Amino acid sequence: MSECIFCKIVAKEIKSYKIYENKDFLAIMDVFPPTFNGKITMPTVLIISKEHYTSKFTGVPEKLFLKSMKLAQRISKAMELALKPMRVCLMIEGTEIDHFHIKLYAVYKETYPGYLSSKQSDGEPVMADKKWLRETAKKIKQALKELRK
Ligand SMILES: [Zn+2]
Repeated sequence: MSECIFCKIVAKEIKSYKIYENKDFLAIMDVFPPTFNGKITMPTVLIISKEHYTSKFTGVPEKLFLKSMKLAQRISKAMELALKPMRVCLMIEGTEIDHFHIKLYAVYKETYPGYLSSKQSDGEPVMADKKWLRETAKKIKQALKELRK
């Protein structure tokens, strides 16, 4: 069995708040979105490859990478529609979890502190409320359906 947390999420060994799934990717809510003073500032969606690849996007097959960008744009449009942020920002860093993933941040002018972190001043990350995760995932899923029309 893999020790990779994203592989476990893909295998449904760990619960996730799913937004979208196709044969190559799984889009889920990030349970540790950026916060400021304990409040969520940027709802975050993760697009995870179903197959395990390095988190360095330069190490991912080009065809899969292009597909991930196309999906990221579509999910971002749904986030804009559902969450009304100033914009959605995309980041691929993967320094903590070495499994290819894209982070999509819904950024708001009022609360954007200029950096992305779920950690509080004591260094501990703040986990998002389960109800909030469920409801926010639902809103974006609904917006995805609206975009298909
Ligand atoms: Zn993995």
